[in-house]
Amino acid sequence: MADEKIKSEGEEDIYKELENISGEEESLVKKFEEFLKFYYGKKIESFSEQYPEKKSLEIDFEDLEKYDPEIADALLENPDGILYSFREALKNMDIPNLDVVDFNINIRIFNLPKDKSPLVRDITASHLNKLISVEGVVRQITDVLPKLNTAVWECLSCGERITSLQGDTKESPVYCYVCKGKKFKLILEKSEFINFQKMQIQEPLENIKGGEQAKTLEIHVRDDIVNKAYPGEKVEITGILRLRPPRKGRGSVYERYLEGMHIKKTEQEFEELEIEPEEEEEIRKLAARPDIYDFLIKNFAPSIFGYEDVKETIILQMFSGVPKTMMDKTKIRGNIHVLLIGDPGTAKSQLLKTADMIAPKSIYVSGKTSSAAGLTATAVKDEFGEGGWTLKAGALVLANGGLAMLDEFEKMDPIDRDALHEAMEQMSTSIAKAGIITRFKTETSVLAAANPKFGRFDPHESIIPQFDIPVTLLSRFDLYFVIRDIVDYEKDRQITEHILKTHKKGELYERYKKEMTGELEKRVREEIEKIGLDVGLLRKYISYARTRCFPELSAEACEEIKKTYLDVRKQSGEGRVTITPRQLEALIRLSEASARVKLRNTVNREDVERAKRLLLTSLKQVGTDIETGKLDTDIIATGISASQRKVITDVLQIIKELFEEEKEEIEEIKVIEKAKTQGMEEPKIREALRRLKRQGEIFEPTYGKIRPTT
Ligand code: ADP
Ligand code: MG
Repeated sequence: MADEKIKSEGEEDIYKELENISGEEESLVKKFEEFLKFYYGKKIESFSEQYPEKKSLEIDFEDLEKYDPEIADALLENPDGILYSFREALKNMDIPNLDVVDFNINIRIFNLPKDKSPLVRDITASHLNKLISVEGVVRQITDVLPKLNTAVWECLSCGERITSLQGDTKESPVYCYVCKGKKFKLILEKSEFINFQKMQIQEPLENIKGGEQAKTLEIHVRDDIVNKAYPGEKVEITGILRLRPPRKGRGSVYERYLEGMHIKKTEQEFEELEIEPEEEEEIRKLAARPDIYDFLIKNFAPSIFGYEDVKETIILQMFSGVPKTMMDKTKIRGNIHVLLIGDPGTAKSQLLKTADMIAPKSIYVSGKTSSAAGLTATAVKDEFGEGGWTLKAGALVLANGGLAMLDEFEKMDPIDRDALHEAMEQMSTSIAKAGIITRFKTETSVLAAANPKFGRFDPHESIIPQFDIPVTLLSRFDLYFVIRDIVDYEKDRQITEHILKTHKKGELYERYKKEMTGELEKRVREEIEKIGLDVGLLRKYISYARTRCFPELSAEACEEIKKTYLDVRKQSGEGRVTITPRQLEALIRLSEASARVKLRNTVNREDVERAKRLLLTSLKQVGTDIETGKLDTDIIATGISASQRKVITDVLQIIKELFEEEKEEIEEIKVIEKAKTQGMEEPKIREALRRLKRQGEIFEPTYGKIRPTT
């Protein structure tokens, strides 16, 4: 008896509690109904006309907070439970012409408070099953996949059909409620599938400080929000953080993902960093310094000795020319593309990494390690796509509006490099594969570094053929710098002293971090004062100039550019072209960037002079014909200089003449001998023969013997 009493008392408690819960729930549903009527009445009415094309009700979190902060809070803490009531409330609303049976409107919450929007790197276990919002750039998306939503299972022993709402599993019910049978079969035709897509986002590049690795997060979206965002686009996603059990053979690591509820696209272009009024003041002061260009050069990679021209160019590249969209919607790029080519160990990589650290938005990839996602964008079949296609953004797409550093450029996949042509010139890249046709924006400046084909430069040969880079791609760059490791006692001594000084500074700083004594601190402070420019401020300075300053060419600047161009152009001759409209445009972009450094709204003569000096230095380094010492842009555009071309035509002439005489294949050696008597050098002649064969002008029917094709 006593036992029974206890039991029934306990039962009573449980009933009471259950009543309480359902009572609470009921009042919650009522509250939501009121909220919906009050704030979203009009929108809900419109569903009767737009359903099922439109099937989501977007709820601004701020509205809910205004209506009832407690419920709003509860929603963040316990989204699953609260959303259930919310959905019930929506079902209770009278929506004309909408059948309650297959009622299927999604509630999509957005605009969470800032403190519920952690950075990807700050997401922890405490966010599990909570409503949060995350900002990022879409890195990859899968195809839209059919996902089991409501499954209909048939009991194999009694034939009873059981409908179950599937979560993330494909599991059948545990047992049949009629016959207790445990085996089921899925009735596909009766089950309902829903559109499903996986995405991966990564932290916005401008949020991560120099050189850090961007963290990623997987996102799952369903129904009408699939294909809402494409790789390279910046989004704010609101959803519930979940854990997924490990895949087979993956040990016991649970992976987290965000069950996406709402996607909002945010600003895509060059991101403005937040700048405080005092910082703006400091930036204006910097820009007003009469020695600002030198000051920036001195503070760019101070541990690297020399390379003032290169440093100046990279600085201008970061400030960038002005991108223009014309009245007819055509675009003219403002990005400046720079290529450093040089001997190994000449600090090229170091310069690229410094630029990566300073540029407000940038990405660094190396040819050796460049990921499968490549430089622009790709579509691949992989595990992430569950066997289907995954669309992935590459470096240039992710850094859209910023800078991409491509190190070990000569080692990049040729297919990747081909895609760069379009990306660098048209500022977009397209993918047409397996029914996917998409365009991605790549308004990205490229700073690339390459090593010579044979390890080191041969100073007696022209430069371009010593690189494994197609000339068509080469011509997409505005400026080139050749960095040679030349033995020169005086310069070597300076570099040595400089490197020693740098290391000493580094050692001092490391010791200070460990010991923090007053004496060390004093010395560290002295060193910091000598630097005089904080990297954080420099990043903001660049961002500020790029987003606020749009200089216009003044009359004198136009005149100066015209004069420069025509002067150099006039020096063309003997089949050489000294400068082409490509370089003219480079001149304009560099001049604009120079004006931006001063935050000036007009480009003046001084800017043009700076641009001219850098452009001519670059042209002389790469575009000089090693035979004649004269400028020849064909070297860049076609890979051969006018004098080389002359050797080729002369050799072809000789072959044709000899063939005329002998009327049969001629021994190659004979051609070489004859060409030598006309003053040509043997390596040049052999190179000419190689090119003629490749171009199909001559062919080699038997080894060592050649004849003209026509
Ligand atoms: P690269 O990419 O051209 O092969 P790295 O950037 O890897 O060369 O440079 C090799 C090392 O030599 C780096 O530690 C770099 O700091 C140093 N170094 C090379 N040239 C200089 C220089 N002019 N001043 C200071 N350090 C230099
Ligand atoms: Mg390197």
